[in-house]
Amino acid sequence: MSDPSLEDRWLDVFNTAHSDPAVVGTLACPSCGEHALRLVYVVHVQEPHKAMFMFWCDSCLNGLMPNTVVVPPGGIRIEPGEEDDVPDYTLVQD
Ligand SMILES: [Zn+2]
Repeated sequence: MSDPSLEDRWLDVFNTAHSDPAVVGTLACPSCGEHALRLVYVVHVQEPHKAMFMFWCDSCLNGLMPNTVVVPPGGIRIEPGEEDDVPDYTLVQD
């Protein structure tokens, strides 16, 4: 068995954060180990339950490729346009 790839570890941390957004601040960044992960959901008015997530680390500025998901209870919602406040992070890909 080989170790999980970096992208797999990011996906794993994302799944934890996505299922309970309250724990995001307690999770260590898979890339740098800092507790600086951020998870927001860009929600369009026409589709209030679906959103594009943005998940990144404020410390090393790595993150996952955004994708469309259902917004979990407690997820931080932002409006289209507000994602301009999200730093330009590097996508973790294998
Ligand atoms: Zn990091």
